[in-house]
Amino acid sequence: MNRRDFLKLCAVLGAGTVAALYSFDIKRVFSEAAEQNGGKIHLVWLEVGGDTGCTISMLQASNPDLIEAVQTLSISADYWQTLMTPDYDLGWVSAGYTTEDSSQVPLMNAAFGDSPVDVLVVEGTPLTGTPPGGLAGAFCTIGEYNGSPVSGFELLQKLAAKASTVVAVGSCSAFGGVPAGVGSGTGALPVTAALRQAGVQTKSPVINIPGCPAQPDWVLMTLATLLQGYSADLDDLGRPSAFFTEYIHDGCPRRPAYDRGEYAATFDDPVGCYWKLGCKGPITQSACARTKWNSGTGFCTQAGPMCWGCMHPSFPETPTSSFFSPVEQTPKLLGLTADNVGEAVVGGVAAVLAVHGARRALTGKKEDEAGRQPERPKEGAGE
Ligand code: SF4
Repeated sequence: MNRRDFLKLCAVLGAGTVAALYSFDIKRVFSEAAEQNGGKIHLVWLEVGGDTGCTISMLQASNPDLIEAVQTLSISADYWQTLMTPDYDLGWVSAGYTTEDSSQVPLMNAAFGDSPVDVLVVEGTPLTGTPPGGLAGAFCTIGEYNGSPVSGFELLQKLAAKASTVVAVGSCSAFGGVPAGVGSGTGALPVTAALRQAGVQTKSPVINIPGCPAQPDWVLMTLATLLQGYSADLDDLGRPSAFFTEYIHDGCPRRPAYDRGEYAATFDDPVGCYWKLGCKGPITQSACARTKWNSGTGFCTQAGPMCWGCMHPSFPETPTSSFFSPVEQTPKLLGLTADNVGEAVVGGVAAVLAVHGARRALTGKKEDEAGRQPERPKEGAGE
């Protein structure tokens, strides 16, 4: 199969299936995308209430790396605050100053001027609240335009209305994440909810790629798919189905221990299952165990710590917290408990059924026909 036929096949099967062929050769996908693009794709990476963790994660993309991806996809990254360099000729020593504080600079031109915006990537949580004595959205103020301060919330509205595609990268952007945790007084909302509150219509559904941080290869793969002109195959939470269908628990290297009822008492246990220590793998949908991270070398439960549920739509609230408590009490099934189910499993089919039944009861939800379990989204997520 040549490259063109491969890509046609990917298109026919849907964007999600591209990831199932992830190990085939991701670089071919990017090369084809570059061939089709012709001109430049204008991308604005807007950071609002976040900690730049997803940008740092993007620097760990491996096949291709971020520089190669930007080049081969013909992307013009018109604004990406954390990665932009200062313009010393203008006398500025801060990338922020050179790109934000004038009507002549890239970010403000993209939001308020004539500069095109093809792809808007949002990192961090939009902060829509009004501080005492301040302006709406002033919890996150980014530069100024025509002498007036401009909030990240206002920039989001302008850019999202203009962009062909909006991608919410990271759990903060997709579902609210830590900034929207209980007790937040900043009006932190997922991108979809913030846009709905502002009455902004996007040209296509917002794509949510959660994670704390987001997995960089999944972000690049999603962008490559979009830039080839294909629609992303999204689930009901707006996530690319390719990366958020299976549960981490399904592919975890400690799963055999779970099935045997062998639970770790401490995190330095090399093989025991972390469920009793609070692992959220059984309720978290993600392809971490399939594609892995850092050039495919590993992921959380393989590297040592448990799964914290950072890609769960409710992270970091219930049921992903408290972090060190099992997600729910293990139910008694067929007279078995978490303590003796392992012994019974060795005994035969009835015990195997008990384990799978226990998993269903563990999450407290009914599986659908495809064997997937519904998530509990936060308000506004996945629209
Ligand atoms: Fe792996 Fe966690 Fe599932 Fe145990 S509970 S098998 S550590 S994902």
